[in-house]
Amino acid sequence: ATPTAVMVGTGVGATQGVLIKGGQALESAHKVNCIVFDKTGTLTVGKPVVVTTKLFKKMSIKDFYEFTAAAEVNSEHPIAKAIVEHAKKITEEQNHSWPVAHNFVSVSGHGVKAIVLNKDILVGNKKMMLDHNITISADAEEILAEAESLAQTGILVSMDGEVAGVLAVSDPLKPGANEVISILNSMKIKSIMVTGDNWGTANSIARQAGIETVIAEAQPETKATKIKELQASGYTVAMVGDGINDSPALVAADVGMAIGAGTDIAIEAADIVLMKSNLEDIIIAIDLANKTFSRIR
Ligand code: ADP
Ligand code: MG
Repeated sequence: ATPTAVMVGTGVGATQGVLIKGGQALESAHKVNCIVFDKTGTLTVGKPVVVTTKLFKKMSIKDFYEFTAAAEVNSEHPIAKAIVEHAKKITEEQNHSWPVAHNFVSVSGHGVKAIVLNKDILVGNKKMMLDHNITISADAEEILAEAESLAQTGILVSMDGEVAGVLAVSDPLKPGANEVISILNSMKIKSIMVTGDNWGTANSIARQAGIETVIAEAQPETKATKIKELQASGYTVAMVGDGINDSPALVAADVGMAIGAGTDIAIEAADIVLMKSNLEDIIIAIDLANKTFSRIR
Protein backbone atom coordinates (compact mmCIF):
# COMPACT_ATOMS: atom_id res chain seq x y z
CA ALA A 1 0.00 0.00 0.00
CA THR A 2 1.12 3.55 -0.66
CA PRO A 3 1.53 5.97 2.24
CA THR A 4 -1.55 7.77 0.92
CA ALA A 5 -3.64 4.58 1.04
CA VAL A 6 -2.51 3.99 4.62
CA MET A 7 -3.43 7.56 5.53
CA VAL A 8 -6.85 7.11 3.99
CA GLY A 9 -7.29 3.80 5.80
CA THR A 10 -6.38 5.16 9.23
CA GLY A 11 -8.49 8.27 8.53
CA VAL A 12 -11.58 6.20 7.70
CA GLY A 13 -10.92 4.13 10.84
CA ALA A 14 -10.79 7.27 12.97
CA THR A 15 -14.19 8.45 11.71
CA GLN A 16 -15.63 5.07 12.79
CA GLY A 17 -14.05 5.10 16.22
CA VAL A 18 -11.28 2.67 15.29
CA LEU A 19 -8.00 4.31 16.25
CA ILE A 20 -5.16 2.77 14.24
CA LYS A 21 -1.70 3.75 15.47
CA GLY A 22 0.17 3.60 12.15
CA GLY A 23 0.66 1.68 8.92
CA GLN A 24 2.32 -1.35 10.51
CA ALA A 25 -0.80 -2.00 12.61
CA LEU A 26 -2.96 -1.87 9.49
CA GLU A 27 -0.63 -4.16 7.53
CA SER A 28 -0.54 -6.73 10.35
CA ALA A 29 -4.33 -6.57 10.72
CA HIS A 30 -4.55 -7.51 7.04
CA LYS A 31 -2.57 -10.71 7.72
CA VAL A 32 -4.31 -11.77 10.94
CA ASN A 33 -5.62 -15.35 10.93
CA CYS A 34 -6.06 -15.89 14.66
CA ILE A 35 -7.59 -13.68 17.34
CA VAL A 36 -7.08 -14.22 21.06
CA PHE A 37 -9.82 -12.69 23.21
CA ASP A 38 -9.60 -11.85 26.88
CA LYS A 39 -12.84 -12.83 28.65
CA THR A 40 -13.73 -10.32 31.36
CA GLY A 41 -14.52 -6.88 29.96
CA THR A 42 -13.69 -7.94 26.41
CA LEU A 43 -16.15 -10.73 25.55
CA THR A 44 -18.25 -9.99 28.62
CA VAL A 45 -19.81 -6.70 29.66
CA GLY A 46 -17.20 -6.44 32.41
CA LYS A 47 -19.51 -5.15 35.12
CA PRO A 48 -20.05 -8.23 37.28
CA VAL A 49 -22.85 -8.39 39.83
CA VAL A 50 -23.31 -10.68 42.81
CA VAL A 51 -26.32 -12.91 42.15
CA THR A 52 -26.15 -15.57 44.89
CA THR A 53 -24.80 -15.81 48.42
CA LYS A 54 -24.66 -19.00 50.48
CA LEU A 55 -23.43 -18.91 54.08
CA PHE A 56 -21.78 -21.87 55.82
CA LYS A 57 -21.33 -20.28 59.22
CA LYS A 58 -23.81 -19.11 61.83
CA MET A 59 -23.56 -15.41 61.16
CA SER A 60 -25.81 -12.75 59.71
CA ILE A 61 -25.51 -11.94 56.03
CA LYS A 62 -24.83 -8.34 57.09
CA ASP A 63 -21.81 -9.37 59.15
CA PHE A 64 -20.61 -11.67 56.38
CA TYR A 65 -20.68 -8.81 53.88
CA GLU A 66 -19.10 -6.33 56.30
CA PHE A 67 -16.03 -8.52 56.65
CA THR A 68 -15.92 -9.43 52.97
CA ALA A 69 -16.32 -5.85 51.74
CA ALA A 70 -13.77 -4.57 54.28
CA ALA A 71 -11.20 -6.82 52.58
CA GLU A 72 -12.36 -6.22 48.97
CA VAL A 73 -12.70 -2.43 49.18
CA ASN A 74 -8.90 -2.33 48.84
CA SER A 75 -8.92 -4.21 45.51
CA GLU A 76 -9.34 -2.74 42.01
CA HIS A 77 -10.60 -6.03 40.57
CA PRO A 78 -14.07 -5.91 38.92
CA ILE A 79 -15.17 -8.81 41.15
CA ALA A 80 -14.11 -6.82 44.22
CA LYS A 81 -16.16 -3.87 43.00
CA ALA A 82 -19.19 -6.14 42.50
CA ILE A 83 -18.84 -7.48 46.03
CA VAL A 84 -18.51 -4.01 47.56
CA GLU A 85 -21.55 -2.74 45.63
CA HIS A 86 -23.59 -5.72 46.78
CA ALA A 87 -22.38 -5.30 50.36
CA LYS A 88 -23.56 -1.68 50.33
CA LYS A 89 -27.06 -2.87 49.47
CA ILE A 90 -27.06 -5.63 52.09
CA THR A 91 -25.74 -3.39 54.85
CA GLU A 92 -27.64 -0.32 53.62
CA GLU A 93 -24.53 1.76 54.15
CA GLN A 94 -23.91 4.34 51.51
CA ASN A 95 -20.98 5.93 53.30
CA HIS A 96 -18.54 3.01 52.81
CA SER A 97 -17.71 2.83 56.49
CA TRP A 98 -16.44 -0.74 56.55
CA PRO A 99 -14.23 -1.89 59.39
CA VAL A 100 -10.59 -1.12 58.61
CA ALA A 101 -8.64 -3.98 57.05
CA HIS A 102 -5.05 -4.59 58.08
CA ASN A 103 -2.26 -6.48 56.30
CA PHE A 104 -4.14 -6.34 52.98
CA VAL A 105 -2.55 -8.45 50.24
CA SER A 106 -3.81 -8.81 46.68
CA VAL A 107 -2.81 -12.12 45.10
CA SER A 108 -2.93 -11.55 41.34
CA GLY A 109 -5.30 -13.97 39.61
CA HIS A 110 -6.42 -15.57 42.89
CA GLY A 111 -7.99 -13.07 45.29
CA VAL A 112 -7.30 -10.96 48.35
CA LYS A 113 -6.49 -11.44 52.01
CA ALA A 114 -6.66 -9.14 55.01
CA ILE A 115 -7.23 -9.05 58.73
CA VAL A 116 -10.57 -7.48 59.65
CA LEU A 117 -11.53 -7.00 63.33
CA ASN A 118 -8.95 -9.67 64.25
CA LYS A 119 -10.43 -12.18 61.82
CA ASP A 120 -8.29 -13.64 59.02
CA ILE A 121 -10.26 -13.04 55.81
CA LEU A 122 -9.56 -14.59 52.42
CA VAL A 123 -11.70 -13.86 49.36
CA GLY A 124 -10.94 -15.57 46.10
CA ASN A 125 -11.07 -18.66 43.96
CA LYS A 126 -10.38 -22.30 44.83
CA LYS A 127 -6.67 -21.87 44.18
CA MET A 128 -6.58 -19.06 46.75
CA MET A 129 -8.16 -21.33 49.37
CA LEU A 130 -6.07 -24.41 48.57
CA ASP A 131 -2.85 -22.35 48.67
CA HIS A 132 -3.80 -21.37 52.23
CA ASN A 133 -4.71 -24.94 53.26
CA ILE A 134 -8.40 -24.19 53.57
CA THR A 135 -10.73 -27.13 53.13
CA ILE A 136 -13.56 -26.73 50.62
CA SER A 137 -16.58 -28.81 51.66
CA ALA A 138 -18.61 -30.87 49.20
CA ASP A 139 -21.50 -28.41 49.71
CA ALA A 140 -19.29 -25.48 48.77
CA GLU A 141 -17.96 -27.39 45.75
CA GLU A 142 -21.52 -28.02 44.63
CA ILE A 143 -22.36 -24.31 44.69
CA LEU A 144 -19.18 -23.49 42.78
CA ALA A 145 -20.01 -26.08 40.12
CA GLU A 146 -23.55 -24.77 39.77
CA ALA A 147 -22.29 -21.19 39.34
CA GLU A 148 -19.82 -22.34 36.69
CA SER A 149 -22.46 -24.21 34.73
CA LEU A 150 -24.46 -20.95 34.61
CA ALA A 151 -21.38 -19.08 33.29
CA GLN A 152 -21.04 -17.34 36.66
CA THR A 153 -17.87 -17.13 38.74
CA GLY A 154 -17.98 -18.67 42.22
CA ILE A 155 -16.00 -16.85 44.92
CA LEU A 156 -15.12 -18.34 48.30
CA VAL A 157 -14.82 -16.34 51.51
CA SER A 158 -12.94 -17.84 54.41
CA MET A 159 -12.81 -16.51 57.95
CA ASP A 160 -10.15 -17.75 60.37
CA GLY A 161 -9.31 -20.69 58.15
CA GLU A 162 -12.81 -21.95 57.36
CA VAL A 163 -15.07 -21.29 54.41
CA ALA A 164 -17.78 -18.95 55.74
CA GLY A 165 -19.63 -18.46 52.48
CA VAL A 166 -19.68 -18.77 48.73
CA LEU A 167 -20.99 -16.18 46.35
CA ALA A 168 -21.69 -16.24 42.64
CA VAL A 169 -20.89 -13.33 40.38
CA SER A 170 -22.49 -12.90 36.97
CA ASP A 171 -20.84 -11.07 34.07
CA PRO A 172 -22.82 -11.80 30.91
CA LEU A 173 -21.52 -12.03 27.36
CA LYS A 174 -21.70 -8.77 25.36
CA PRO A 175 -24.67 -8.74 22.99
CA GLY A 176 -23.43 -9.49 19.48
CA ALA A 177 -20.27 -11.31 20.62
CA ASN A 178 -21.57 -14.54 19.14
CA GLU A 179 -22.18 -12.94 15.75
CA VAL A 180 -18.70 -11.42 15.63
CA ILE A 181 -17.13 -14.84 16.29
CA SER A 182 -19.21 -16.42 13.54
CA ILE A 183 -18.23 -13.69 11.05
CA LEU A 184 -14.56 -14.23 11.97
CA ASN A 185 -15.09 -17.97 11.38
CA SER A 186 -16.44 -17.24 7.92
CA MET A 187 -13.35 -15.08 7.28
CA LYS A 188 -11.19 -18.13 8.22
CA ILE A 189 -9.93 -16.37 11.33
CA LYS A 190 -9.59 -18.65 14.36
CA SER A 191 -10.91 -17.35 17.70
CA ILE A 192 -9.40 -18.30 21.06
CA MET A 193 -10.45 -17.19 24.54
CA VAL A 194 -7.94 -16.71 27.35
CA THR A 195 -8.83 -15.87 30.93
CA GLY A 196 -7.64 -15.95 34.52
CA ASP A 197 -11.08 -17.23 35.51
CA ASN A 198 -11.70 -20.92 36.24
CA TRP A 199 -12.21 -23.58 33.55
CA GLY A 200 -15.89 -24.21 34.24
CA THR A 201 -16.98 -20.58 33.90
CA ALA A 202 -14.61 -20.03 30.98
CA ASN A 203 -16.02 -23.02 29.06
CA SER A 204 -19.60 -21.86 29.66
CA ILE A 205 -18.91 -18.35 28.35
CA ALA A 206 -16.92 -19.72 25.40
CA ARG A 207 -19.81 -22.01 24.48
CA GLN A 208 -22.20 -19.05 24.52
CA ALA A 209 -19.81 -17.04 22.32
CA GLY A 210 -19.21 -19.92 19.90
CA ILE A 211 -15.51 -20.12 20.69
CA GLU A 212 -14.04 -23.63 20.62
CA THR A 213 -10.54 -23.06 21.95
CA VAL A 214 -10.24 -21.95 25.57
CA ILE A 215 -7.32 -21.29 27.89
CA ALA A 216 -8.43 -20.72 31.50
CA GLU A 217 -6.74 -20.11 34.86
CA ALA A 218 -4.10 -18.18 32.93
CA GLN A 219 -1.61 -15.87 34.63
CA PRO A 220 -0.82 -12.60 32.79
CA GLU A 221 2.52 -14.09 31.61
CA THR A 222 0.62 -17.11 30.27
CA LYS A 223 -1.44 -14.86 28.02
CA ALA A 224 1.72 -13.46 26.35
CA THR A 225 3.40 -16.88 26.19
CA LYS A 226 0.36 -18.33 24.42
CA ILE A 227 0.52 -15.55 21.80
CA LYS A 228 4.19 -16.35 21.14
CA GLU A 229 3.39 -20.06 20.80
CA LEU A 230 0.69 -19.32 18.24
CA GLN A 231 3.11 -17.12 16.31
CA ALA A 232 5.76 -19.84 16.42
CA SER A 233 3.27 -22.27 14.90
CA GLY A 234 2.72 -19.89 12.00
CA TYR A 235 -0.26 -17.76 12.98
CA THR A 236 -0.44 -13.99 12.63
CA VAL A 237 -2.12 -13.14 15.89
CA ALA A 238 -4.31 -10.31 17.13
CA MET A 239 -4.99 -9.97 20.85
CA VAL A 240 -8.10 -8.16 22.09
CA GLY A 241 -8.12 -7.08 25.72
CA ASP A 242 -8.98 -4.40 28.24
CA GLY A 243 -7.03 -5.10 31.41
CA ILE A 244 -3.65 -4.26 32.89
CA ASN A 245 -3.01 -8.00 32.88
CA ASP A 246 -3.62 -8.11 29.11
CA SER A 247 -0.89 -5.59 28.25
CA PRO A 248 2.03 -8.05 27.91
CA ALA A 249 -0.11 -10.06 25.46
CA LEU A 250 -1.21 -6.92 23.59
CA VAL A 251 2.46 -6.06 23.08
CA ALA A 252 3.43 -9.63 22.11
CA ALA A 253 0.68 -9.94 19.48
CA ASP A 254 1.17 -8.90 15.85
CA VAL A 255 -1.76 -6.58 16.44
CA GLY A 256 -2.86 -5.57 19.92
CA MET A 257 -6.44 -4.30 20.05
CA ALA A 258 -7.63 -2.54 23.19
CA ILE A 259 -11.21 -2.02 24.26
CA GLY A 260 -11.74 1.76 24.54
CA ALA A 261 -13.44 1.41 27.92
CA GLY A 262 -10.43 -0.55 29.18
CA THR A 263 -7.52 0.50 31.33
CA ASP A 264 -5.08 3.20 30.16
CA ILE A 265 -2.24 0.68 30.29
CA ALA A 266 -4.00 -1.63 27.82
CA ILE A 267 -4.84 1.30 25.53
CA GLU A 268 -1.20 2.38 25.53
CA ALA A 269 0.06 -1.13 24.85
CA ALA A 270 -2.30 -1.63 21.87
CA ASP A 271 -1.79 -0.88 18.15
CA ILE A 272 -5.50 -0.39 17.55
CA VAL A 273 -8.04 1.06 19.98
CA LEU A 274 -11.73 0.18 19.62
CA MET A 275 -13.00 3.52 20.94
CA LYS A 276 -16.65 2.45 21.10
CA SER A 277 -15.75 -0.80 22.90
CA ASN A 278 -17.79 -2.74 20.32
CA LEU A 279 -16.51 -6.14 19.24
CA GLU A 280 -18.02 -5.49 15.78
CA ASP A 281 -15.29 -2.90 15.28
CA ILE A 282 -12.72 -5.72 15.11
CA ILE A 283 -14.33 -6.65 11.78
CA ILE A 284 -14.30 -3.01 10.67
CA ALA A 285 -10.57 -2.77 11.45
CA ILE A 286 -9.76 -5.95 9.53
CA ASP A 287 -11.97 -4.96 6.58
CA LEU A 288 -10.24 -1.61 6.41
CA ALA A 289 -6.82 -3.27 6.52
CA ASN A 290 -7.86 -5.68 3.76
CA LYS A 291 -9.13 -2.86 1.56
CA THR A 292 -6.01 -0.77 2.14
CA PHE A 293 -3.59 -3.60 1.43
CA SER A 294 -5.27 -5.22 -1.55
CA ARG A 295 -6.14 -2.03 -3.42
CA ILE A 296 -2.59 -1.02 -4.42
CA ARG A 297 0.47 -3.29 -4.27
P1 ADP B 1 -9.47 -12.22 34.36
O1 ADP B 1 -8.59 -12.80 33.27
O2 ADP B 1 -10.87 -12.73 34.25
O3 ADP B 1 -9.39 -10.71 34.43
P2 ADP B 1 -7.87 -12.44 36.84
O4 ADP B 1 -6.56 -13.07 36.47
O5 ADP B 1 -7.86 -11.00 37.19
O6 ADP B 1 -8.99 -12.82 35.75
O7 ADP B 1 -8.49 -13.24 38.10
C1 ADP B 1 -8.70 -14.64 38.03
C2 ADP B 1 -9.61 -15.10 39.13
O8 ADP B 1 -9.03 -14.82 40.41
C3 ADP B 1 -10.97 -14.41 39.16
O9 ADP B 1 -11.87 -15.02 38.29
C4 ADP B 1 -11.36 -14.63 40.62
O10 ADP B 1 -11.85 -15.93 40.81
C5 ADP B 1 -10.04 -14.51 41.35
N1 ADP B 1 -9.82 -13.14 41.85
C6 ADP B 1 -8.91 -12.25 41.40
N2 ADP B 1 -8.99 -11.10 42.10
C7 ADP B 1 -9.99 -11.26 43.00
C8 ADP B 1 -10.57 -10.42 44.03
N3 ADP B 1 -10.16 -9.18 44.27
N4 ADP B 1 -11.58 -10.96 44.76
C9 ADP B 1 -12.02 -12.20 44.53
N5 ADP B 1 -11.53 -13.03 43.59
C10 ADP B 1 -10.52 -12.57 42.84
MG1 MG C 1 -10.42 -8.23 30.94
